Amino acid sequence: MNDATQDRVSSARPDWHARPADAVAEHWAVAPEKGLDEPEVTRRRERYGLNRLPEARPRGPLIRFLSQFRNLLIYVLLGAALITALLGHWVDTAVIVGVVLVNAVIGFVQEGKAEDALRAIRDMLSARAMVVREGRQYSVPAEELVPGDVVLLQAGDRVPADLRLWRARGLQIEEAALTGESVAQEKSIEPVAGEAVLGDRLGMAYSGTLVTHGQGAGIVVGSGADTEIGRISRLVSQVETLTTPLLRQMATFSRWLTGAVLGLAALIFLFGILWRGMAPAEMFMTVVGLAVAAIPEGLPAILTVTLAIGVQRLAGRHAIIRRLPVVETLGSLSVICSDKTGTLTRNEMMVRSLVSAAGHCRVEGEGYCPRGAFRRGEEPLDPARHPWLMRLLRAGLLCNDATLEETDEDWQVHGDPMEGALIAAALKGGLDADDERAANPRTDLIPFDAQHKFMATLHHDHQGEAFVYVKGAPEQVLRACQAVWDEQGESPLDQEAWEQHIEALAAEGQRVLAVACKGMPSHAQEVDFADVESGLVLLGLLGLIDPPREEAIRAVADCREAGIRVKMITGDHAGTARAIAAQLDLSNCGEVITGQQLESMDDEALARRVEDVDVYARVSPEHKLRLVTLLQAQDAIVAMTGDGVNDAPALKRADVGIAMGRKGTEAAKEASEMVIADDNFASIVRAVEQGRTVYDNLKKAIAFLLPINGGEAMSILVAVLFGLTLPITPVQILWVNMVSSVALAMALAFEATEPDAMRRPPRPADEAMISGFLLWRIALVALLMAAGVFGIFRLALADGASLEEARTYAVNTLVVMEIFYLFSVRFLRTPSLSWAHMVDSRAAILAVAVVALLQLMFTYAPFMERFFDTRPVDFVHGVEIVLIGVGLFAVLELEKLWLRRAAGRRRSDDG
Ligand code: ATP
Repeated sequence: MNDATQDRVSSARPDWHARPADAVAEHWAVAPEKGLDEPEVTRRRERYGLNRLPEARPRGPLIRFLSQFRNLLIYVLLGAALITALLGHWVDTAVIVGVVLVNAVIGFVQEGKAEDALRAIRDMLSARAMVVREGRQYSVPAEELVPGDVVLLQAGDRVPADLRLWRARGLQIEEAALTGESVAQEKSIEPVAGEAVLGDRLGMAYSGTLVTHGQGAGIVVGSGADTEIGRISRLVSQVETLTTPLLRQMATFSRWLTGAVLGLAALIFLFGILWRGMAPAEMFMTVVGLAVAAIPEGLPAILTVTLAIGVQRLAGRHAIIRRLPVVETLGSLSVICSDKTGTLTRNEMMVRSLVSAAGHCRVEGEGYCPRGAFRRGEEPLDPARHPWLMRLLRAGLLCNDATLEETDEDWQVHGDPMEGALIAAALKGGLDADDERAANPRTDLIPFDAQHKFMATLHHDHQGEAFVYVKGAPEQVLRACQAVWDEQGESPLDQEAWEQHIEALAAEGQRVLAVACKGMPSHAQEVDFADVESGLVLLGLLGLIDPPREEAIRAVADCREAGIRVKMITGDHAGTARAIAAQLDLSNCGEVITGQQLESMDDEALARRVEDVDVYARVSPEHKLRLVTLLQAQDAIVAMTGDGVNDAPALKRADVGIAMGRKGTEAAKEASEMVIADDNFASIVRAVEQGRTVYDNLKKAIAFLLPINGGEAMSILVAVLFGLTLPITPVQILWVNMVSSVALAMALAFEATEPDAMRRPPRPADEAMISGFLLWRIALVALLMAAGVFGIFRLALADGASLEEARTYAVNTLVVMEIFYLFSVRFLRTPSLSWAHMVDSRAAILAVAVVALLQLMFTYAPFMERFFDTRPVDFVHGVEIVLIGVGLFAVLELEKLWLRRAAGRRRSDDG
């Protein structure tokens, strides 16, 4: 037994919950305030391994390969191979087995690609944890935690390992993953009895559970498989199948079609023997040919690959899909409700204005660089000579959790960007962050949350004086203020005048913060809500700029063209929201509904407004749920963004819940269908575009494969029913369907977005995939294909060609028609004939090259002649065959033109 295992066994289920936190810290040789140091972390990682649950082993390649044969048609084919072998038709047996094998290899490769796509996405979603190491806070991948690490928890986090808590502030944890109890448990740091059951161990936070409220810190006492969740389920079974409702629907359709075709084949078999007096062996091969011809065997696999490629492309555009069906929903989105800060705006904040009772000024500068002048009008202002200014800046610096760091090329914020901006402003004013923090150490805090919209910190200076600084949404802070500070001291607060100041800053699109302070008894060690609800003294206002992202402005315009309404739902002030909405050019940026108004309206009144109003300000997370529900009641398909733990219900309720990858909590990510890695609104719109593309490509794959099956089946049926010679033999059909068609259809999975993808309205959510249009197109192409195949076959025979030659022409005609149809189907309704389209079709050209090569081999290689009974095609017939392909393409282009004209006429009649 090695060291690590021994330790695990000896520490099996120790009673951490029954020991005081200090004793646990001592056991793990860690000082809770400082954490471990890096060399120790490395040592412990070597000893205990990564903090990861062992994964269920993926299916091995052999099993995956064999599973390709689990398909009704394959069984039929293997049966046919057996029968042909019994009859001594060895060549047919070899062809059938060969084709089945090639098809299984294609399926195997495709499936591998699909699984890779999913795996890559899972990796992108790995969780992170905040740790304290060497006295500093870091965000590290959760799997890098080691026993003894000090982990910080806050609302929205998923607990990354088993922790013994040593600090808990209003900390509530929902432990349903372990105990099944969905009501969150209030945590404390007190030890409990050794025999306490899991749900009663208040001093513990267990891996996999969810922090719903408050803050805390704990020491890792179990990681990886050595956690409670690891004991329950030693394996994470992540068996996610790559499917969506549409794919399931199509798979059912394929199965149903397979059954029907096999039934029909049996009837034809009897009909051939009894009615036409054919030999059973020959008739058997004919009906096998019919089955292969009519069953779209490649369809489900092609659809799966199309979906996988789509998901992979979405990930490349920063949209990580967590639940696959959402790929389809994206294409029918009609409303996107988006946060403002960081999503529509850049979240690169800078303090621009400072206002107090004693004066006001503007600040200059770039980004977070702490250099920039203070001015009043054009006049420079020396901050050191204005105590009001220094006091405001100091409060902003101290009531703050962020840090600012100079990197090689830039200044970077760790933490909230807005707080970073406050630090930059303080440094511009000449304050030194470390000196200030050392002179006014922080004893306690009330952290910011979106519900209360403020933050408060308790400090003690070296004279022993205690005071709280509060910063937050101005309405909130002003309500608690009883006086205002100017350089002479405190004076009465004129609410109305301050509200005007706020409005004026907000109207310029500035985000406004109010800063206040209050003296506290010098022995105070804690600050509570009651302390900051009244008696504050207002120090002043800070106006911050956070301009809209350029790409968000363009994306909003794209949405308008695509028939998608964008609604901005923000926690910010109404005035600021209105100004930013105007800069973004939202459809209706004049009207704003605030959270307060929202609360005073009943559902009926709100329902009437919700469609038209695009800006919602001072909204709390709970309001989001109401907005989504009301929009959905009006048949909208709604996407909603969110980041906090309280956003989870709205994210779950929305048709597409979108969590922010950077500032989003684990809780928000888990409630959402999609995670946007860069928090950027433009990425949401790109995802919608990609969603529409995937749907189009699925449709194209269906429109491509079904008529080929239809055309082939029709050719065989006609021949059997009318007692004609088969224009294509069953083994030749096998070749076309399971090799050429599948290779060509694969190209459709890689199709780029059509130029008009974002210029049409969203697809109705209940639209059938096989619409009237698609049915018509499938029937038309099937007919044309059957006509082409039969046409060349009969003509060749009439011209004196041998049966084998005529059949070779027919097969080649079919494949050439497929190739031309591939180029036609790439654009379902718009013209395909354009140089630009030809150039950007690498996948299609590659597929055509491969198929052409195979087809040349099929036609001219002597060994192929043995298997497929082919004959070389002469030049004249070669030209004829290509011309038939061109003819098919031309007819379909004319059909598109005719359909477009008809649609245009309908529109102008309607108009
Ligand atoms: P959005 O919901 O679009 O992201 P937001 O970031 O403004 O907008 P919240 O984060 O809910 O929304 O913030 C609401 C308000 O709370 C802000 O307008 C600001 O006045 C105040 N606020 C935000 N962050 C802090 C903070 N760290 N400390 C104090 N007050 C804050």
